[in-house]
Amino acid sequence: MARAYTWLQLSSLSQFILPRNYLRFANPLSSILPNFVSSPASYSSLSKRSMRHLIPVLAQAKRGPSFKDNEVALPADLQFEAPLKIVEYPDPRLRAKNKRIGKFDDNLKNLVDEMFDVMYKTDGIGLSAPQVGVNIQLMVFNPVGERGEGEEVVLVNPRVIKYSKKTVLFNEGCLSFPGIYADVQRPESLKIDAQDITGSKFTIDLSGLPARVFQHEFDHLKGIVFIDRMTEEVVETIREELQALEKKYETETGRPSPERIGTRKKKVAVGFGKS
Ligand SMILES: [Zn+2]
Repeated sequence: MARAYTWLQLSSLSQFILPRNYLRFANPLSSILPNFVSSPASYSSLSKRSMRHLIPVLAQAKRGPSFKDNEVALPADLQFEAPLKIVEYPDPRLRAKNKRIGKFDDNLKNLVDEMFDVMYKTDGIGLSAPQVGVNIQLMVFNPVGERGEGEEVVLVNPRVIKYSKKTVLFNEGCLSFPGIYADVQRPESLKIDAQDITGSKFTIDLSGLPARVFQHEFDHLKGIVFIDRMTEEVVETIREELQALEKKYETETGRPSPERIGTRKKKVAVGFGKS
């Protein structure tokens, strides 16, 4: 997820407590709070019209029935080349199945290091493995977005246990949609479980910005991108930029765009039940 400005209640961040076992840095969480509190000018205005709509989600037409949700990645699935490059919409790797991770070795740690590198270089605060062309269940984030500041979070094989009923609107960006920002409504908080970089399992409650970043990256692990969660009205405001990305993909690859914003499949409204 790219940096985005928010109207979220800053106080909600203080309710967010991270366990130490999946943090790469031992910095106290309080170290990230002043960054948010000291930048009140960063609030964006809300699109009230958008709030009237339910959250639509594009049906995942690309997912074939042959995939199993618990399919474990093979070593070949975790191959990567450094430095990593960000995969941009409409690259089909953003829609591919992401396999579960079963091996917690040095290769996985190296991949995590490289993901943080490219995330900081591209001014991101969160990044999922499919966004660097590695289709596995892995995400990293740091809500501060600065190396050496805040908390670096690594989540392997994450699952959502429960979403809050309350939803909030937030102006999101995505490294796979460079320069595009738009309002997306999502649950305010949620309970998740995941494994850390060593394979240890844990459960945690997330709220505020970490909950927002998590949900954006978690969608990537399901082959869902943020335009799927926007209302038609919001998509309309970024239609030309999306079409420009489709054109860029065709020019660079010599292949037709695998999806087109103008011909999106019928949307289905879904709730935020268990994942
Ligand atoms: Zn993204």
